[in-house]
Amino acid sequence: MLTLLAEEKLFTLPAATIAGHAHQSAHADTSTPIHNASTGATIGWQQQASAAQIDAAVRAAHAALPAWRATAAATRGDLLKKIAELIESNRDRLAEMQMQVSGKPPFEAGLDVSDAAATFDYYAGLCRDAALFAPEAIDLPDHTITGERFYESVGVAALIVPWNFPMVTTAWKMAPALAAGCTVVLKPSEFTSPVEHLLAAIIAEAGVPDGVVNLVNGGGAVGAQLTTHPLIDKISFTGSTASGQKVMQAAAQDMKRVTLELGGKSALIVRADADIEGAVTLAVGGAFANAGQMCSATARILVHDDVYRKFMATFETAVRSIVVGPPTGADVTMGPLVSAAQRDRVQTLLAQGVDAGASVAFSGQLDSACANGFFMAPVVIAEPAADNVLWTDEVFGPVACVKSFRTDEEAIALANDTRYGLVATVVTADKEAARRYKSQLRAGLVWINTPQLIFPQVCWGGLGLSGIGRELGLAGLRSYQELRHAIADAN
Ligand code: NAD
Repeated sequence: MLTLLAEEKLFTLPAATIAGHAHQSAHADTSTPIHNASTGATIGWQQQASAAQIDAAVRAAHAALPAWRATAAATRGDLLKKIAELIESNRDRLAEMQMQVSGKPPFEAGLDVSDAAATFDYYAGLCRDAALFAPEAIDLPDHTITGERFYESVGVAALIVPWNFPMVTTAWKMAPALAAGCTVVLKPSEFTSPVEHLLAAIIAEAGVPDGVVNLVNGGGAVGAQLTTHPLIDKISFTGSTASGQKVMQAAAQDMKRVTLELGGKSALIVRADADIEGAVTLAVGGAFANAGQMCSATARILVHDDVYRKFMATFETAVRSIVVGPPTGADVTMGPLVSAAQRDRVQTLLAQGVDAGASVAFSGQLDSACANGFFMAPVVIAEPAADNVLWTDEVFGPVACVKSFRTDEEAIALANDTRYGLVATVVTADKEAARRYKSQLRAGLVWINTPQLIFPQVCWGGLGLSGIGRELGLAGLRSYQELRHAIADAN
C-alpha cells in the first residue's frame, strides 16, 4: 500500500488524490521537479492539479462531510490513534523521505516523525473525552429557560502548508480537523509534497473513509484557487506573511474561517546572570536548527553587555563547529536549504544587509560534500543597525544577528521592536526576571531556559504579523469547530 518513493528511479506524484483515487494530469508540461536538497538532483516529478481537479477534490470533501461529521468522536479518535501508530511503524521511510527532499539530518527528520505521531495521538486522546464533544448546559437567571452551548465541525477545511516542516505542519492541521469532524483538502508545498503523499497513504491505510482527506498538488496558484472555492468553509494556512495576507483577503469574500500561522523575527535574550554555555546551546539551536528555516527562529540574539565578549567567543566556537552536509554524512548537524531559489534568496538578503553596513562577525564553513546541494554556511552578524534588513526582516536561513543591551527595559524594547510576535527565549538564573520577561515580551510562546520544546498540549501561534488563531492544544480542536448555542423553554 505504502510505496517507498525513494526506492523508485524517478517517481511522478499524481496531480490529486480525490476520494481515495489518484488523478493524473492531462498536462505533463505543468509538472514540476522534486529535488534532493543535498545533491541538487531531480528525484521525481509532481503533477499540478487543474482547476477541475481542485473543484472535484473540494466536492469530494463536501460529499463526505455529513457522514464524517456524524461519526462518533470516539470512532474518529480510534482512526487517529491508528494513524499515529502507522506513522511510528513507517518511521524509517518517512524520515528517509524528509532527508531526501529537505536534506534534514537524521535526528531532525526523526524529530518531525515523532512530532507528527504525537500530534495524532494527542487528538486521538481528546476524541475519547466525550465531554469535549457533548453539549454543555449554561446556567441562566431565568429557570423557566434552558441554555446550551455546543460545538459542530466547521465543515470542509483547506489545509495549506509550507516546506520547512512538511509532516509536522500537516499533522498540526490534519489531526484536529479530523478530530473535530471536518473533511479536508490538503495542499502541500510543491517542494516537499512526497512527504505528504506518504502521510496521505498512511491515513488511507488507517481506514479513514474515502473523501474525508483529499490532496491537490501545486504551488501558490493552486492554493489560491482553494481559498476562493465557495464550498471551503475554513482555511488553515501556514506560510509567509505576504501569502497569509492574500489568503485572508480571499477568505473575506465568503467570511471563511481562517487560522494563519505566518512568519517571525524572534528574539533570544541572554541576561548577565545566564549560564553562557547553556545560552550558546540555545542560541545555536534557535538560529540554526533546520538550517534556520524556522518560523520560530530566534535570529535576533540580545546579550547583556557584561557577558557579551564571553558569549561571542563561545558562540563563535560553537558556530565554527557546526558540521554542514548531507544527511548521510557522519556528524552532520546542519543540512542544506530546501531549494536553490531559497538559498539564493537568503544569500541576496545577506548581501543586501552587508551592503547596508552589517558586519559578519564569524561564519561556519562548507566542505566538498556540499558541492552540489543547496548548502549555505551559518553566518553571525554583530551589532547590525536597527533598520538593517537582517535585523528587521525574516531571513528564513542560517543567518543570526547579535546585539548587546544594558538593561532589561532595553532588551524588552529591542525584542518587541518588530511587527511579528511568534516566540521568544529568555536565558536567566533569576526567576523573578523571567516572570517579567514572560509577561512583557510580545510573543505567542516564551521559552525560559529551554530549547524550543513543542508539545501538542501547548498551543502554537503568534501575535501581529505572525498570524491569527492558535494551533495545537484544545484551542487547535476548537478552531475546526463552530461554537453554537440554543435557548429553549424549560417546560
Ligand atoms: P509561502 O507563503 O510561499 O507558501 C506556503 C504555502 O502556501 C505553500 O503551499 C504555497 O504553495 C502556498 N501559497 C502561496 N501563495 C498562496 C496564495 N496566494 N494562496 C494560497 N496558498 C498560497 O511560504 P513558504 O516559503 O513555503 O514557507 C516559509 C514561510 O512559512 C516563512 O515565512 C515561515 O515563517 C512560515 N512558517 C510559519 C510557521 C508558523 O507556524 N507560524 C511554520 C512554518 C513556516
